[in-house]
Amino acid sequence: MAVANTHLPAPSRHAPGLTAVNRYHGFMATINEHYLKLKAGYLFPEIARRVEQFKAANPEQAPRIISCGIGDVTEPIPEAAQQAMHEAVDELGKRATFHGYGPPTGYEFLREAIIEHDFHAHGIDMSAGEVFLSDGSKGDCGAVLDILGPNNRIGITDPVYPVYVDTNVMIGRTGEADDAGRYAGLTYLPCTEQHGFVAQVPDVPLDVVYLCFPNNPTGSMITRDQLQQWVEYAHANDAIILYDVAYQAFISDSSLPRSIYEIDGATTCAMEFHSFSKNGGFTGVRCGYTVCPDALTAATSSGERVPLNKLWTRRWATKSNGVSWPVQRGAAALYSETGQEQVRALINHYMGNAKLLRKGCEALGLSVFGGEHAPYVWVKTPEGMTSWQWFDVMLEQANVVITPGSGFGSCGEGYFRISAFNTRSNVEEVVRRMGQLSRQPA
Ligand SMILES: *Cc1c(COP(=O)(O)O)cnc(C)c1O
Repeated sequence: MAVANTHLPAPSRHAPGLTAVNRYHGFMATINEHYLKLKAGYLFPEIARRVEQFKAANPEQAPRIISCGIGDVTEPIPEAAQQAMHEAVDELGKRATFHGYGPPTGYEFLREAIIEHDFHAHGIDMSAGEVFLSDGSKGDCGAVLDILGPNNRIGITDPVYPVYVDTNVMIGRTGEADDAGRYAGLTYLPCTEQHGFVAQVPDVPLDVVYLCFPNNPTGSMITRDQLQQWVEYAHANDAIILYDVAYQAFISDSSLPRSIYEIDGATTCAMEFHSFSKNGGFTGVRCGYTVCPDALTAATSSGERVPLNKLWTRRWATKSNGVSWPVQRGAAALYSETGQEQVRALINHYMGNAKLLRKGCEALGLSVFGGEHAPYVWVKTPEGMTSWQWFDVMLEQANVVITPGSGFGSCGEGYFRISAFNTRSNVEEVVRRMGQLSRQPA
């Protein structure tokens, strides 16, 4: 069963998750040695290193390089959000409309807008007290470990958004990594082509499972039936699902679940992680939210049930003073009628890119996945090539930077991710260059 962090009701002097060695080691300051377990050659630094090396050796090609690598948005934020943030800054400049500290978990007006548009409009019963505003869901994915016990058995999909893994390593919930980069103590759930890159419910018990749909990096989407199976698994094993819906706005088929809470029984087994980064272009603004239902509980080591909402509320009140006034005003504006139209236009732009990229890869004769409910296209490398070999071909011959699938986990080997977060002209140029690749094979 999932176990709550029992330190919280009676706070301990010692940080949870640290070993005795870390706490006190004679007369010297010591570090959290779990950080030393993190793999050094991490994906994006390695990509940057290869790109820099190529630029240095081929300075004339350097200006031609187009990045379809890192998952950052390219288009400006919606006008409605800009306007609201301008007004909010002006309000801070006048005594009559000034705002100081806000509620640690977010202003009521924003939490109500979230409840109305993201839940009630889709027939999901949820209340503002179950919504927690934050500066983005990357931080939330790590922070949630604060309220969960140190001995939970953790399930991680492979390939995976690396944040779920590394935050568990940092807090001391794993052993060392093996040669394949898999950490002792984590249970890896392979996501293979055979099952549409959706993790299958395992036949071993786990306490906490991270799921992300639409998926980064594979762009895959889970069906209602498959998600139902996960909810049933969670109930059968008294487990908690941490459900990441950062790409929710990209779902283009209304029969697919936008939220895990569309599934009966999910309010007692799941937390959900939302972000305004990808729908509102807020990667540089920073805002997201978590949902921690009142009905969600986990056990103490003696078996008593504790509502996680209480611990999560306490965690926010202690460790944060919440999200800035202008940012919350900007996020709320995304829910206005004009804001919604402008968000839709942004999504359409990126999904138009995804469509072009899919076609470009298909024209090369490659097997193409994703890109239909997510801004990521997941592609099988040509026969006999590893992810990094194909990365080099794309860099050297097309001057296009992609992300090697193996960087997201060993099951990503033999695939690459191409991001649709780009300008239309860049995407058209990428597709044109890929067309030339096919005529001049490596
Ligand atoms: C982009 C992304 C997020 C959102 O991160 P923010 O901190 O809100 O910008 C969360 N999860 C996944 C899988 C992502 O790709």
